[in-house]
Amino acid sequence: MFELVDTTLRDGEQTAGVVFGAEEKVEMVRLLNRIGIHWIEAGIPAMGAEEQVILKEMLKANRSAGMIAWNRADIGDVEKSIVCGFEYIHISLPVSDFHINYKLKKSREWVLSRLKEILKYTKSAGAKVLVGAEDASRSDNEFFLRYADTAAEGGAIRIRYADTIGCMEPFKVAETFQALVMRCPLPIEFHGHNDFGLAVANSVAAYQSGVPYVSVTSTGIGERAGNSCLEDFAGAMSAICRCPLHLNLAYLPRLTEIVRNAKMRKKHVEGGDQMITKDMRIGSVMVNYPETLEVLADYELDCRNCMKAKYETLEQAAQMHGFPLEQMLYELNDVISHGAEDAL
Ligand SMILES: [Zn+2]
Repeated sequence: MFELVDTTLRDGEQTAGVVFGAEEKVEMVRLLNRIGIHWIEAGIPAMGAEEQVILKEMLKANRSAGMIAWNRADIGDVEKSIVCGFEYIHISLPVSDFHINYKLKKSREWVLSRLKEILKYTKSAGAKVLVGAEDASRSDNEFFLRYADTAAEGGAIRIRYADTIGCMEPFKVAETFQALVMRCPLPIEFHGHNDFGLAVANSVAAYQSGVPYVSVTSTGIGERAGNSCLEDFAGAMSAICRCPLHLNLAYLPRLTEIVRNAKMRKKHVEGGDQMITKDMRIGSVMVNYPETLEVLADYELDCRNCMKAKYETLEQAAQMHGFPLEQMLYELNDVISHGAEDAL
C-alpha cells in the first residue's frame, strides 16, 4: 500500500502570497477527490472563525479522502478542529534539538509529556490522531523513535517525518528510512521540502525505502522553496519507478490553474489574524536563530545579510497583508522576549 497526502490547502497556502478563496477551496477538494488523492490536509481551524466556516464546507464537499486538520500541540486548537467535524487530527511538535531548544525553549522530556497530554485529550474526543515530527531530518533517530513510541502508546495511527528545512538528499533518505521503517511502531509519512530542489527525489527515495505515505502539493507550492510537487512525483512514480499511482490526471490542469491564479494575492486579516501572527513568529525565530528554519551554517552566509533579508521579507509581508510594520515588529519583540512556544 502506498498513499499520497495532499497538503496544498495547508502547507501550500502557507506560501507567502498564496491565498485560495472559499469557492476555490471547495472546488479543490472535489478535484482532489476526482484525481484520487487518499488524504487531504485541509487547513488549520485555529486560524479563526472565517476559516472554520470554509473548512466545514470543504468537509461537506468531500466524498472519498481522509480529511485532516493541522494543529499545534494545543488543546484549544484541537478543540476547534473537533468542533469543525474533522475525523483526522494532525498534531505537530518539533523533535530536533535545534527546534526544541531555540524555537520552543523547552526540553525533549517536555515534548514527550506535551504529546502524551494532547493525545489523551484528542483520543478522548473520539478523533483519530496523526502525529507530526517537525524537523525530524535534524533529529536524533533514537529520539524520533521515542517520540513515535509515545505517539503509538497514546493511540496515534501515523507519524509524519518532516524534512522541515529541506536538508536531506536521496541517499540520506534511503539510509534513514532503512533504519527507521522496521523499528518505528507507526506507519511513516515523509514530508519533504524543496530548498535544494530535492523534494521529489527525496520522496521517491522514501517510497523506495518502504515509507507508505508521502506529502505533496500541487505544483510544489509551500513554505519557502515549497514541498514535493504532486504532478512531478506522480510522473516520476509512473515513468521511472514503474509504480503508477492510478490518479485521474484529467483533473490536474484545473487544479494547477487554481494554484497558479492564487499566487500574489492579499491575505484577509481577521482581527489579530493568527496566520499573520504565525508568519511573524516564524520570522522572529528566523531572525534570532536562522538555523532553525534554514540550512545556513553550512553555507557560512554573512549573518548581517541574512538578517537584512529577513527584515526585507517582513516588510514585504507587512505591505502584502496591509499590516502595520511597527505592530509586526512590536509582536516580534514580544516573541523574542518571551520565547516562541507558539512558533510552530
Ligand atoms: Zn511543511
